[in-house]
Amino acid sequence: MKKIIFGVIGILTITLIIYMVLLNYNEEYQFKKKMRKSGYNDEEIITVMEMIPKKDYDIILKREYNDSLIDIISSDDFKENYLDMYLDYYEKNSDEDIQNIITIVNSGYDLDDYPASSLLAKLVNEKYYIYKNTARYLDYGNSHKETPRKIVGLVNANVDLGFYNKVLASDLNDNNLILVNKFYYLDKTYEPDDLIILSGQYNGGVNNRLRKEAAEAFMKMASAALLDNVYIKNISAYRSYDYQVNLYDKYVRRDGKEKADIYSARPGFSEHQTGLCLDINSADDSFKDTKEAKWLQDNAYKYGFILRFPKGKEDITGYKYEPWHYRYVGTDAARIIYDNDLTLEEYYAYYVENKKS
Ligand SMILES: [Zn+2]
Repeated sequence: MKKIIFGVIGILTITLIIYMVLLNYNEEYQFKKKMRKSGYNDEEIITVMEMIPKKDYDIILKREYNDSLIDIISSDDFKENYLDMYLDYYEKNSDEDIQNIITIVNSGYDLDDYPASSLLAKLVNEKYYIYKNTARYLDYGNSHKETPRKIVGLVNANVDLGFYNKVLASDLNDNNLILVNKFYYLDKTYEPDDLIILSGQYNGGVNNRLRKEAAEAFMKMASAALLDNVYIKNISAYRSYDYQVNLYDKYVRRDGKEKADIYSARPGFSEHQTGLCLDINSADDSFKDTKEAKWLQDNAYKYGFILRFPKGKEDITGYKYEPWHYRYVGTDAARIIYDNDLTLEEYYAYYVENKKS
Protein backbone atom coordinates (compact mmCIF):
# COMPACT_ATOMS: atom_id res chain seq x y z
CA MET A 1 0.00 0.00 0.00
CA LYS A 2 2.76 2.42 0.97
CA LYS A 3 4.61 1.60 -2.24
CA ILE A 4 1.57 2.49 -4.28
CA ILE A 5 1.17 5.82 -2.49
CA PHE A 6 4.83 6.70 -2.96
CA GLY A 7 4.59 5.62 -6.57
CA VAL A 8 1.64 7.88 -7.25
CA ILE A 9 3.26 10.84 -5.49
CA GLY A 10 6.43 10.23 -7.49
CA ILE A 11 4.60 10.17 -10.79
CA LEU A 12 2.61 13.30 -9.92
CA THR A 13 5.81 15.15 -8.94
CA ILE A 14 7.59 14.20 -12.15
CA THR A 15 4.55 15.20 -14.19
CA LEU A 16 4.43 18.57 -12.41
CA ILE A 17 8.13 19.21 -13.04
CA ILE A 18 7.80 18.32 -16.72
CA TYR A 19 4.73 20.54 -16.96
CA MET A 20 6.56 23.48 -15.39
CA VAL A 21 9.60 23.06 -17.59
CA LEU A 22 7.39 23.00 -20.66
CA LEU A 23 5.46 26.02 -19.42
CA ASN A 24 8.67 27.90 -18.87
CA TYR A 25 10.01 26.84 -22.22
CA ASN A 26 6.78 27.87 -23.82
CA GLU A 27 6.81 31.27 -22.08
CA GLU A 28 10.31 32.00 -23.30
CA TYR A 29 9.43 30.68 -26.72
CA GLN A 30 6.36 32.90 -26.88
CA PHE A 31 8.36 35.91 -25.71
CA LYS A 32 11.07 35.38 -28.32
CA LYS A 33 8.45 34.92 -31.00
CA LYS A 34 6.63 38.13 -30.05
CA MET A 35 9.88 40.06 -29.77
CA ARG A 36 10.96 38.96 -33.24
CA LYS A 37 7.59 40.03 -34.54
CA SER A 38 8.10 43.46 -32.94
CA GLY A 39 11.34 43.80 -34.85
CA TYR A 40 14.02 42.86 -32.31
CA ASN A 41 16.92 40.75 -33.50
CA ASP A 42 18.19 37.67 -31.66
CA GLU A 43 21.06 39.49 -30.00
CA GLU A 44 18.71 42.12 -28.61
CA ILE A 45 16.28 39.47 -27.41
CA ILE A 46 19.03 37.58 -25.57
CA THR A 47 20.16 40.79 -23.87
CA VAL A 48 16.63 41.59 -22.78
CA MET A 49 16.15 38.08 -21.38
CA GLU A 50 19.40 38.38 -19.45
CA MET A 51 18.59 41.79 -18.00
CA ILE A 52 14.83 41.76 -17.47
CA PRO A 53 12.90 39.40 -15.20
CA LYS A 54 10.01 37.50 -16.80
CA LYS A 55 7.40 39.40 -14.82
CA ASP A 56 8.38 42.52 -16.76
CA TYR A 57 8.16 41.04 -20.26
CA ASP A 58 4.73 42.54 -20.75
CA ILE A 59 6.11 46.04 -20.20
CA ILE A 60 8.20 45.56 -23.32
CA LEU A 61 5.70 43.56 -25.35
CA LYS A 62 2.90 46.10 -24.94
CA ARG A 63 5.05 48.62 -26.79
CA GLU A 64 6.28 48.99 -30.32
CA TYR A 65 9.90 48.36 -31.26
CA ASN A 66 12.23 50.67 -29.30
CA ASP A 67 15.65 51.18 -30.83
CA SER A 68 17.03 52.42 -27.50
CA LEU A 69 15.72 49.63 -25.30
CA ILE A 70 19.09 47.92 -25.08
CA ASP A 71 20.85 51.21 -24.28
CA ILE A 72 18.35 51.90 -21.51
CA ILE A 73 18.56 48.52 -19.82
CA SER A 74 22.34 48.38 -20.21
CA SER A 75 22.94 51.70 -18.47
CA ASP A 76 24.81 51.51 -15.16
CA ASP A 77 22.07 53.64 -13.61
CA PHE A 78 19.21 51.47 -14.84
CA LYS A 79 16.80 50.48 -12.08
CA GLU A 80 14.60 47.50 -12.84
CA ASN A 81 11.57 48.92 -10.99
CA TYR A 82 11.54 51.98 -13.23
CA LEU A 83 11.46 50.13 -16.56
CA ASP A 84 7.91 51.16 -17.36
CA MET A 85 8.66 54.81 -16.52
CA TYR A 86 11.85 54.94 -18.60
CA LEU A 87 9.97 53.63 -21.60
CA ASP A 88 7.02 55.98 -21.07
CA TYR A 89 9.30 58.97 -20.72
CA TYR A 90 11.43 57.87 -23.65
CA GLU A 91 8.39 57.69 -25.88
CA LYS A 92 7.72 61.36 -25.18
CA ASN A 93 11.38 62.32 -25.53
CA SER A 94 12.84 59.94 -28.07
CA ASP A 95 15.33 62.55 -29.36
CA GLU A 96 16.85 63.13 -25.96
CA ASP A 97 20.02 61.59 -24.57
CA ILE A 98 19.23 58.26 -22.85
CA GLN A 99 21.35 59.12 -19.84
CA ASN A 100 19.33 62.29 -19.23
CA ILE A 101 16.11 60.31 -19.43
CA ILE A 102 17.41 57.79 -16.91
CA THR A 103 18.67 60.49 -14.55
CA ILE A 104 15.37 62.36 -14.64
CA VAL A 105 13.29 59.22 -14.02
CA ASN A 106 15.67 58.04 -11.29
CA SER A 107 15.06 61.29 -9.39
CA GLY A 108 11.72 59.79 -8.38
CA TYR A 109 9.86 63.05 -9.04
CA ASP A 110 6.84 63.19 -11.28
CA LEU A 111 8.41 65.01 -14.23
CA ASP A 112 6.41 63.33 -16.97
CA ASP A 113 5.05 66.61 -18.25
CA TYR A 114 8.45 68.29 -18.47
CA PRO A 115 10.45 67.72 -21.64
CA ALA A 116 13.69 65.85 -20.99
CA SER A 117 16.82 68.01 -21.24
CA SER A 118 20.34 68.03 -19.89
CA LEU A 119 19.40 71.06 -17.78
CA LEU A 120 16.54 69.19 -16.12
CA ALA A 121 18.81 66.17 -15.53
CA LYS A 122 21.34 68.44 -13.80
CA LEU A 123 18.70 70.26 -11.77
CA VAL A 124 17.18 67.12 -10.26
CA ASN A 125 20.62 66.12 -9.03
CA GLU A 126 21.12 69.41 -7.21
CA LYS A 127 21.12 69.00 -3.43
CA TYR A 128 18.67 71.86 -2.87
CA TYR A 129 16.33 71.11 -5.76
CA ILE A 130 12.69 71.71 -4.76
CA TYR A 131 10.15 69.93 -6.94
CA LYS A 132 7.52 72.65 -6.95
CA ASN A 133 10.05 75.12 -8.35
CA THR A 134 10.85 72.99 -11.41
CA ALA A 135 9.08 75.15 -14.00
CA ARG A 136 10.71 78.30 -12.59
CA TYR A 137 14.18 76.70 -12.62
CA LEU A 138 13.74 75.78 -16.26
CA ASP A 139 12.42 79.23 -17.22
CA TYR A 140 15.25 80.95 -15.41
CA GLY A 141 17.92 78.50 -16.57
CA ASN A 142 16.86 78.73 -20.19
CA SER A 143 17.05 82.52 -20.20
CA HIS A 144 20.16 83.04 -18.01
CA LYS A 145 23.62 81.55 -18.28
CA GLU A 146 24.08 80.21 -14.76
CA THR A 147 25.23 76.94 -13.22
CA PRO A 148 22.50 74.53 -12.06
CA ARG A 149 23.47 75.21 -8.44
CA LYS A 150 23.07 78.94 -8.98
CA ILE A 151 19.76 78.52 -10.78
CA VAL A 152 18.40 76.50 -7.86
CA GLY A 153 19.75 79.03 -5.34
CA LEU A 154 18.39 82.07 -7.17
CA VAL A 155 14.93 80.64 -7.79
CA ASN A 156 14.67 79.22 -4.26
CA ALA A 157 15.46 82.75 -3.07
CA ASN A 158 12.68 84.07 -5.36
CA VAL A 159 15.13 86.25 -7.28
CA ASP A 160 13.41 85.26 -10.52
CA LEU A 161 10.30 87.10 -9.28
CA GLY A 162 12.25 90.34 -8.92
CA PHE A 163 13.29 92.22 -5.79
CA TYR A 164 10.46 94.12 -4.07
CA ASN A 165 8.22 92.97 -6.88
CA LYS A 166 5.98 90.32 -5.36
CA VAL A 167 6.29 90.64 -1.60
CA LEU A 168 4.92 88.50 1.23
CA ALA A 169 4.62 89.01 4.98
CA SER A 170 7.35 87.19 6.95
CA ASP A 171 6.13 84.21 8.95
CA LEU A 172 6.57 85.23 12.58
CA ASN A 173 6.24 81.60 13.66
CA ASP A 174 9.67 80.91 12.14
CA ASN A 175 11.18 82.40 15.29
CA ASN A 176 15.01 82.41 14.97
CA LEU A 177 14.73 81.51 11.30
CA ILE A 178 12.39 84.33 10.36
CA LEU A 179 13.27 85.60 6.92
CA VAL A 180 13.25 89.30 6.12
CA ASN A 181 14.68 90.37 2.77
CA LYS A 182 13.59 91.99 -0.50
CA PHE A 183 10.78 89.46 -0.73
CA TYR A 184 9.58 89.03 2.88
CA TYR A 185 8.69 92.01 5.04
CA LEU A 186 7.73 92.83 8.62
CA ASP A 187 4.73 94.89 9.58
CA LYS A 188 5.25 98.54 10.53
CA THR A 189 4.20 97.70 14.10
CA TYR A 190 6.34 94.59 14.56
CA GLU A 191 8.71 94.77 17.48
CA PRO A 192 10.08 91.66 19.23
CA ASP A 193 8.89 91.40 22.85
CA ASP A 194 12.10 89.96 24.28
CA LEU A 195 14.70 92.58 23.35
CA ILE A 196 17.48 93.03 25.88
CA ILE A 197 20.26 95.60 26.04
CA LEU A 198 23.86 94.87 25.14
CA SER A 199 26.04 97.01 27.33
CA GLY A 200 29.59 97.59 28.50
CA GLN A 201 32.24 95.75 26.51
CA TYR A 202 29.57 94.33 24.14
CA ASN A 203 28.30 97.60 22.81
CA GLY A 204 29.58 100.56 20.83
CA GLY A 205 26.39 101.86 19.26
CA VAL A 206 23.03 103.54 19.81
CA ASN A 207 20.90 100.64 18.59
CA ASN A 208 22.01 98.27 21.30
CA ARG A 209 19.16 95.78 21.70
CA LEU A 210 18.86 92.17 20.50
CA ARG A 211 16.35 89.43 21.22
CA LYS A 212 17.29 87.54 24.38
CA GLU A 213 18.60 84.33 22.83
CA ALA A 214 20.60 86.20 20.19
CA ALA A 215 21.98 88.65 22.78
CA GLU A 216 23.15 85.83 25.03
CA ALA A 217 24.75 84.05 22.09
CA PHE A 218 26.49 87.25 21.02
CA MET A 219 27.91 87.86 24.49
CA LYS A 220 29.13 84.26 24.63
CA MET A 221 30.74 84.70 21.21
CA ALA A 222 32.37 88.02 22.15
CA SER A 223 33.78 86.45 25.32
CA ALA A 224 35.20 83.53 23.33
CA ALA A 225 36.72 85.93 20.79
CA LEU A 226 38.40 87.82 23.60
CA LEU A 227 40.30 84.67 24.58
CA ASP A 228 41.78 84.78 21.06
CA ASN A 229 42.61 88.48 21.51
CA VAL A 230 39.82 89.42 19.15
CA TYR A 231 37.60 92.32 20.22
CA ILE A 232 34.08 92.42 18.86
CA LYS A 233 31.23 94.69 19.81
CA ASN A 234 27.85 95.74 18.51
CA ILE A 235 27.51 98.98 16.55
CA SER A 236 23.91 98.53 15.37
CA ALA A 237 21.47 95.78 16.35
CA TYR A 238 17.67 96.11 16.59
CA ARG A 239 16.29 99.00 14.55
CA SER A 240 12.64 99.94 14.56
CA TYR A 241 10.56 100.47 11.44
CA ASP A 242 10.56 104.23 12.00
CA TYR A 243 14.32 104.32 12.45
CA GLN A 244 14.72 102.50 9.13
CA VAL A 245 12.39 105.01 7.44
CA ASN A 246 14.78 107.82 8.37
CA LEU A 247 17.90 105.84 7.50
CA TYR A 248 16.67 104.69 4.10
CA ASP A 249 15.35 108.14 3.19
CA LYS A 250 18.69 109.66 4.10
CA TYR A 251 20.51 107.22 1.78
CA VAL A 252 18.04 107.76 -1.04
CA ARG A 253 18.52 111.53 -0.80
CA ARG A 254 22.29 111.05 -0.86
CA ASP A 255 22.72 108.32 -3.53
CA GLY A 256 19.35 107.83 -5.20
CA LYS A 257 16.98 104.89 -4.81
CA GLU A 258 18.75 102.42 -7.09
CA LYS A 259 22.09 102.74 -5.33
CA ALA A 260 20.59 102.90 -1.85
CA ASP A 261 18.74 99.62 -2.45
CA ILE A 262 22.04 97.77 -2.84
CA TYR A 263 23.25 98.58 0.67
CA SER A 264 20.20 99.69 2.61
CA ALA A 265 16.84 98.00 3.18
CA ARG A 266 13.52 99.68 2.63
CA PRO A 267 11.48 100.08 5.84
CA GLY A 268 9.85 96.78 6.79
CA PHE A 269 12.37 94.87 4.69
CA SER A 270 15.29 95.38 7.06
CA GLU A 271 16.53 92.37 8.95
CA HIS A 272 17.53 94.72 11.75
CA GLN A 273 13.84 94.96 12.67
CA THR A 274 13.89 91.25 13.67
CA GLY A 275 16.20 91.90 16.63
CA LEU A 276 18.21 88.89 15.47
CA CYS A 277 21.10 90.58 13.67
CA LEU A 278 23.74 93.16 14.30
CA ASP A 279 26.55 95.07 12.67
CA ILE A 280 29.87 94.38 14.34
CA ASN A 281 32.77 96.80 14.92
CA SER A 282 32.67 98.80 11.67
CA ALA A 283 30.25 99.11 8.77
CA ASP A 284 33.06 99.96 6.38
CA ASP A 285 34.40 97.81 3.56
CA SER A 286 37.89 97.92 5.11
CA PHE A 287 36.56 95.78 7.97
CA LYS A 288 36.85 92.71 5.76
CA ASP A 289 40.65 92.64 6.12
CA THR A 290 40.72 92.78 9.91
CA LYS A 291 41.47 89.82 12.16
CA GLU A 292 38.06 90.37 13.75
CA ALA A 293 36.31 89.83 10.41
CA LYS A 294 38.40 86.73 9.79
CA TRP A 295 37.67 85.36 13.26
CA LEU A 296 33.94 85.93 12.81
CA GLN A 297 33.91 84.27 9.42
CA ASP A 298 35.57 81.16 10.85
CA ASN A 299 33.85 80.96 14.24
CA ALA A 300 30.49 82.75 14.31
CA TYR A 301 28.54 79.64 13.25
CA LYS A 302 29.61 77.88 16.46
CA TYR A 303 27.55 80.44 18.36
CA GLY A 304 24.58 80.37 15.99
CA PHE A 305 25.52 83.38 13.84
CA ILE A 306 25.96 83.53 10.08
CA LEU A 307 27.58 86.04 7.76
CA ARG A 308 24.33 87.24 6.26
CA PHE A 309 25.49 88.93 3.03
CA PRO A 310 28.51 86.97 1.80
CA LYS A 311 30.77 87.75 -1.10
CA GLY A 312 29.71 85.98 -4.29
CA LYS A 313 26.09 85.69 -3.16
CA GLU A 314 25.05 89.26 -3.89
CA ASP A 315 22.61 88.16 -6.59
CA ILE A 316 20.84 85.84 -4.12
CA THR A 317 20.71 88.11 -1.06
CA GLY A 318 20.20 91.29 -3.06
CA TYR A 319 22.89 93.04 -1.00
CA LYS A 320 26.53 93.80 -1.46
CA TYR A 321 29.05 91.89 0.65
CA GLU A 322 28.78 93.10 4.25
CA PRO A 323 31.57 91.56 6.34
CA TRP A 324 30.18 93.20 9.51
CA HIS A 325 26.54 92.09 9.37
CA TYR A 326 25.85 88.89 11.34
CA ARG A 327 22.52 87.19 11.84
CA TYR A 328 21.51 84.84 14.61
CA VAL A 329 19.77 81.65 13.40
CA GLY A 330 20.69 79.18 16.14
CA THR A 331 23.57 76.70 16.06
CA ASP A 332 21.88 73.92 14.06
CA ALA A 333 20.95 76.11 11.12
CA ALA A 334 24.21 78.07 11.34
CA ARG A 335 26.25 74.89 10.99
CA ILE A 336 24.34 73.71 7.91
CA ILE A 337 24.60 77.16 6.34
CA TYR A 338 28.33 77.35 7.08
CA ASP A 339 29.13 73.79 5.95
CA ASN A 340 27.20 74.07 2.69
CA ASP A 341 28.09 77.65 1.82
CA LEU A 342 24.45 78.73 1.80
CA THR A 343 22.68 82.01 2.32
CA LEU A 344 19.73 82.27 4.70
CA GLU A 345 17.52 82.55 1.61
CA GLU A 346 18.69 79.19 0.29
CA TYR A 347 18.50 77.55 3.70
CA TYR A 348 15.04 78.92 4.36
CA ALA A 349 13.58 77.76 1.06
CA TYR A 350 14.78 74.20 1.47
CA TYR A 351 14.75 73.53 5.20
CA VAL A 352 11.95 75.78 6.45
CA GLU A 353 9.42 76.79 3.81
CA ASN A 354 9.60 73.55 1.85
CA LYS A 355 8.82 71.53 4.97
CA LYS A 356 5.64 73.50 5.59
CA SER A 357 3.79 72.51 2.44
ZN1 LIG B 1 23.37 95.37 9.15
